[in-house]
Amino acid sequence: MDFHGKVVLITGGSRGIGRSIALEFAKCNASVIVNYRNNDKEAEKTIEEIKKLGGYCETIKGDIKEYDFSKKMIQYIIDKYGKIDVLINNAGISKVGLFIDMTEKDFDDIMGVNLRGVFNTCSNVVKHMIERKEGNIVNISSIWGGVGASCEVLYSASKGGVNSFTKALGKELAPSGIRVNGIQPGVIDTDMNKWMSQEDRKALIDEIPISRFGEGEDIAKLAVFLASDEAKYITSQIISVDGGYI
Ligand code: NDP
Repeated sequence: MDFHGKVVLITGGSRGIGRSIALEFAKCNASVIVNYRNNDKEAEKTIEEIKKLGGYCETIKGDIKEYDFSKKMIQYIIDKYGKIDVLINNAGISKVGLFIDMTEKDFDDIMGVNLRGVFNTCSNVVKHMIERKEGNIVNISSIWGGVGASCEVLYSASKGGVNSFTKALGKELAPSGIRVNGIQPGVIDTDMNKWMSQEDRKALIDEIPISRFGEGEDIAKLAVFLASDEAKYITSQIISVDGGYI
C-alpha cells in the first residue's frame, strides 16, 4: 500500500499503538503528523524511528480533549500541508477500578479524551474532507466498547460511544466520499497494561485463544488497510483485533 503524498494525522502517537500506527504509515511513504500530550522523549523516539525508515514525521504537542487545541492543530496542518487525508483517532486513557470509586473528574477525564477527543478532531477535519470529497477516519476503540468490562465501566462507556459515533458518522459521510471505521483492540502490550502483575498477565493470556497479548503492529496493519483503497467498500464498521478473546 502506497500513501506517498498523503497526509496522516495520528493522535496519541508518542507511544504504544499510536507509535506503531505512525511507523506503519511511514513505511507506506505517508507524511505522518503525530499528536501527543506530555511525553516529549517518547515523541522524539517516534520521530527518530520514522527517520530511520527514511520517512517524514512532525509532532504536535497538546491535549486532544481541548476543542481549541484540536481546532488550532488541524488548522496548522491544513495551512502547512494543504490537507489531511487520513485521521487516526488513537489517543486514549483508562482507569481500572470499581465503579463506586470513580469520581466525576474520572468521568470527565475519560470521556474527555476518549470520546470528546474524537469529536474534537472529527469536527474540525471533516469539513475539509467534505470540501475535497475524500478522506479516511479510523477510530481506535476497544473490545470493552462492544461488550463492557467489569472495573472499566467509564472506559467501556467511552469506547461504546466511539463505536456508535463511528457507525453513524460513516453513514453520514459516505455520500461525501469519506469512510469512517473503527478498530476494537483486545489486550495489547503497551504502557496502558503495565499495571498488571506477572500473575495477572499469565491469567489473562490463558483466556486468549491465540495465547499472547497483541502487539501495536497487529492494530497498525489493520489501520493502514482500512485507510487504503484496498478497503474502499468498507465503512461504518468496527473490527475486533483480539486474538479470539471475545
Ligand atoms: P498508551 O497509554 O500506551 O499511549 C497513549 C497515547 O495517547 C500516548 O501517546 C499519550 O501521549 C496519548 N494521549 C493520552 N491522553 C492524551 C490527550 N489528552 N491528548 C493527546 N494525546 C494523549 O496507550 P495504548 O497505545 O495502549 O492505547 C492507544 C489506544 O488504544 C487508546 O485509545 C486505548 O484506549 C486503545 N486500546 C488499547 C488497548 C491496550 O490493551 N493497550 C486495548 C484496547 C484499546 P503521552 O505519551 O504524551 O502521554
